[in-house]
Amino acid sequence: MAKKTDTAAAPQHTPMMAQYLSIKAEHPDKLLFYRMGDFYELFYDDAVKAAKLLDITLTTRGQSAGQPIRMCGIPYHACEGYLAKLVKLGESVAIAEQVGDVASSKGPVERKVLKVVTPGTLTDAALLDDKQENRLLALFPFKGRLGMAWLSLASGDFALMDTEVEKLPSELERLRPAEVLVADDTDLALLERSPFPVRKLAPWQFDAQTAERNLSRHFATHDLAGFGITEPMLAVGAAGALLEYIRLTQGGALPSLSGLRVEHATQYIELDAATRRNLELTETIRGEPSPTLFSLLDNCATGMGSRLLRHWLHHPLRSHARILERQQAISALLDSGAHADLHAILDGVADVERIASRVALLSARPRDLSSLRDSLAQLPALVAALPEAPFFTGLAQALQPDLAISALLSAAILPEPAVLLREGGVIADGYSAELDELRGIQNDCGTYLAQMEARERERTGISTLRVEYNRVAGFFIEITNSFLGQVPDDYRRRQTMKNAERYITPELKAFEDKALSAQDRALALEKQLFDGVLQQLQTHLAGLRLAAQALATVDVLATLAARALQSGYVAPQFVDETRITIDAGRHPVVEAQIDDFIPNGVEFGLARKLLLITGPNMGGKSTYMRQVALIVLLAHVGSYVPATGAVIGRVDRIFTRIGASDDLAGGRSTFMVEMTETANILNNASEHSLVLMDEVGRGTSTFDGLALAWSIAKQLIEKNRAYTLFATHYFELTRLAIDYAMVANVHLDAVEHKDRIVFLHAVQEGPASQSYGIAVAQLAGVPRDAIRLAKRKLLELEQQSATNSLQADLFGASVTVEVEPEPHAALEALQVLNPDELTPREALDALYALKSLLQTQ
Ligand code: ADP
Repeated sequence: MAKKTDTAAAPQHTPMMAQYLSIKAEHPDKLLFYRMGDFYELFYDDAVKAAKLLDITLTTRGQSAGQPIRMCGIPYHACEGYLAKLVKLGESVAIAEQVGDVASSKGPVERKVLKVVTPGTLTDAALLDDKQENRLLALFPFKGRLGMAWLSLASGDFALMDTEVEKLPSELERLRPAEVLVADDTDLALLERSPFPVRKLAPWQFDAQTAERNLSRHFATHDLAGFGITEPMLAVGAAGALLEYIRLTQGGALPSLSGLRVEHATQYIELDAATRRNLELTETIRGEPSPTLFSLLDNCATGMGSRLLRHWLHHPLRSHARILERQQAISALLDSGAHADLHAILDGVADVERIASRVALLSARPRDLSSLRDSLAQLPALVAALPEAPFFTGLAQALQPDLAISALLSAAILPEPAVLLREGGVIADGYSAELDELRGIQNDCGTYLAQMEARERERTGISTLRVEYNRVAGFFIEITNSFLGQVPDDYRRRQTMKNAERYITPELKAFEDKALSAQDRALALEKQLFDGVLQQLQTHLAGLRLAAQALATVDVLATLAARALQSGYVAPQFVDETRITIDAGRHPVVEAQIDDFIPNGVEFGLARKLLLITGPNMGGKSTYMRQVALIVLLAHVGSYVPATGAVIGRVDRIFTRIGASDDLAGGRSTFMVEMTETANILNNASEHSLVLMDEVGRGTSTFDGLALAWSIAKQLIEKNRAYTLFATHYFELTRLAIDYAMVANVHLDAVEHKDRIVFLHAVQEGPASQSYGIAVAQLAGVPRDAIRLAKRKLLELEQQSATNSLQADLFGASVTVEVEPEPHAALEALQVLNPDELTPREALDALYALKSLLQTQ
């Protein structure tokens, strides 16, 4: 609506609203914060939207162009909290400040958008989640391929990758961008359902040639070959668009980025989107932050460490050599016991990474610099505490303190500077002679006033005369009413109080001018000196970034070492054979939540590639499968694992098809989701992949489901030959072990004890003997009558299926289901009767009882 009124009726708008609308026209897709005095105001549709999102009052403010103006406002000093909320909701905000001189402007004071805050371009400490990387992702799809470029403005990490369009969901899940940029003519149906805010840009911004030129200019290189980009990459166009977008949002300033990093899909164990969710790496299936693998492991001392740990969990490595570097570093920490000391030192270290990027954008605050200085002072102690291991030698190098920075910050910044630069009290004494002098004038004030007071009391004979200063009245001489007759002629009246008059003299006025201007000049000088310090730091940014990365790495390694020690993890061994052996493995998250976790091993090899898992619901099948996947994943992160031993061969991907999750928002039913995920597995799993299939075929009719489960299992054995854990409630599938040597049956058992069922949670060889579904239903409180009916129905079904020809065809042999019919209650009663022990009367009673049992059942 705002736009319409703008063009149609612009002349009738008040001058201020005309100004507002012309700024708004440049930012139609953002909320415009329009600075008015101590408030940011939002108008028209922006106001309606923001009032709702922020839960603040919507008002109206007069009229413009004959229409009431809807409006809401946010106090300028509290804007950060509101900005954080809006950005979290995926909104972008353009902030228009008053840039003209209020006093001299006729009409409305000039305003300009000085900053655009978008979810993907945040750097402000108050707006960022310190445990999560804030990434901006640009996508450029072309003929089934997808160019991706992503950047974390806060860490300076800038990466590129070309992949297939169909990988987009898993890449989104891996990178979890705060904001996604695409050309507005992009047809990516996959993005439509994305929970990540999408911003559409003009297609020309993705032009590859312009992008290459801009990127080369930015990095001051001849071309991009030095970054490993020798072939044309779609991602380069995306990177160009991304860089321009940043320039726009940062008011023209571009951060100093560490460089471009080209990522290859083969570097990491591939995890598709469903797998990342199903394994609950950093978010539970319900979208909660805990309990997850990350929430369990994250005891990092710094935000940098937490963010790196999160990254590692989503990027398990394939290279055994690189994994072993990390693993050996953890071993060295455990051998020396240094992890606890390192953690304690890191506790006193600030988020150097994010401070470095605020320095790069010249938006660092005084306390950023003092904490940077104090953090750098910890480096020697940290390096001294590092144990001997090749991996730490490299890190120690990056952690060598940069003496120039330390010296500069110690000299320039007060030990505890003020929060805001504009209040002064930031630059240290002795750093600038001019500042010291200006401060000296202010400090001398007290002495001067005391001296003048003594002098004037003597001159006037007024013993109660006071010479003072306050912010409103400035400097004055105060004389109570009873002495007004003794006031000298050179006193000029300044202010009348209730019991006194305040005066100024030419001498005091001269002093006042000097003192006040000293204060103003000191503040201006402090700002200038602070900016100078930021400028001097620019040349040290690369070193700071390296140090930040090293700090994060030490933090994560120390955290993983502490966890290994605390929870009894072991170092897994890596081999080149086809093998995954885990001895007495545990599910890391479940074991932390219950008292008696039962450990279970797994054994995969060339001759044993698919394990069919049967057993009752609640028996522990899902837990077991997930624990195998989590142990394999943790091993590839470089961590120790929750087991007594593990030997792992080459793994390229982990796939999971677990649980029934409806994607109703995406318009797909449970069964459709299940089959889409299954199709992905069958099309992509290799003999080095680990596949988890839980209850596949459950979402459709029994025979459909059974037929599908059977054919899927057969494909996995014959074609994919992946390491597969296949949990099923279709008992018929257990026959596969007879047909294929590579298939083995394992089961989880339960025992019925009186009226209760007890789950043993121990994985054993062979198929389960029964499914206990009805026993579990009983445990859950399903009424007794329904249970009894279910038992009867089961019996009937089992009898029917024993002769069912479809199943017989399916398996190429007749399936003989051994059914032991449950005896009728009357029969049971009859069985326990002993006629020899009955009196005639009792025999007659028993006969009646039997007759009535016949009627009730
Ligand atoms: P299923 O997939 O067979 O239905 P789950 O794996 O969901 O069973 O396990 C059901 C519950 O049993 C879990 O919530 C957990 O509390 C418990 N459980 C599973 N595995 C174990 C184990 N190995 N030791 C102890 N408790 C376990």
